[in-house]
Amino acid sequence: MTTYEYSCAHCGRFVKRLPMGSAPSALDCPACGSRAGRVYSSPGLIRAPARLTTLREHEERSREEPEVIRRGSAAAPTARPAHPALARLPRSR
Ligand SMILES: [Zn+2]
Repeated sequence: MTTYEYSCAHCGRFVKRLPMGSAPSALDCPACGSRAGRVYSSPGLIRAPARLTTLREHEERSREEPEVIRRGSAAAPTARPAHPALARLPRSR
């Protein structure tokens, strides 16, 4: 038996366990009876615990908008001192 996921336009997503390879492209929604189309999702992620889902969403968000950890207001990044050898380099005018 394999878990297949369907999406009803009125009730949202639901899962149905069927023999492998026998999933139709649409099923009747068990709640309202209207046709629900099959949804293709990653294996094993359908029934992930809520905590795991939350962590995954946080991890995906942090790729674009990483959270910055600050210790009070004095946590501004300190400028690194320039290497002394840089002072000997020729300057453009
Ligand atoms: Zn429905």
